Amino acid sequence: MKRIGIIGGMSPESTVIYYRQLNDGTRRALGPLATADCLIASLNFGEIQALQKAGDWTRAGEVLADAASRLEGAGAELIMLATNTMHKCADAIEAAVSVPFLHIADATGRRLQADGRTAPLLLGTAYTMEQDFYKKRLLGACGIEVIVPDAEDRACIHAIIFDELVNGIVTEESREAYLDVVSRYSDRGADSVILGCTEIGMLLDSGNCPLPVFDTALIHCDVALDLAALKEA
Ligand code: GLU
Repeated sequence: MKRIGIIGGMSPESTVIYYRQLNDGTRRALGPLATADCLIASLNFGEIQALQKAGDWTRAGEVLADAASRLEGAGAELIMLATNTMHKCADAIEAAVSVPFLHIADATGRRLQADGRTAPLLLGTAYTMEQDFYKKRLLGACGIEVIVPDAEDRACIHAIIFDELVNGIVTEESREAYLDVVSRYSDRGADSVILGCTEIGMLLDSGNCPLPVFDTALIHCDVALDLAALKEA
């Protein structure tokens, strides 16, 4: 069983989801008392968010690369970054470590591909929905072309992430707002929805969504467990 290094804290709300998912999966695979061998480098999200806002992705990449190499130095054999947005700095992380870096978009794209999805709706931060780094990776690595919500919907989705979800606030009103977006794009031909922000699972899941749900945080953890050779067959 490999030791998993998680670059987390972006936000802590989703790092908790990763920790729970990795441990639940380990317990299912190895038995009731088994827990995941993992290390978490939990960053100060306030600092990261300030760098996002300033567009200082170079400095953000340095911070993430430093966290990754600290994890490797502490014995991590596999590194994962528990946020979609900060995968904008994936190259800096990959360059800093010699152990595998498990890219969240590759994990998600392969799952979409395996499920035969060709028109997923992408929900995430404005950075993830509007910039190229994530969409290009899905297209290049997996041939998946996403549907991006229009500007008004993107603003609403982004605001709910940063005003509420990253602070642990979950409201029915916001859940309804997300469900409304998903229903409208379902009517326009979306065949699935990518929860392309690791906190969106706090609002949407396969139980309440009108489209098949691809939750990047859960998929990322499943693939990490596979790589760590822990997942049940
Ligand atoms: N966790 C989020 C994501 O998956 C948003 C927080 C961040 O900006 O890193 O994109």
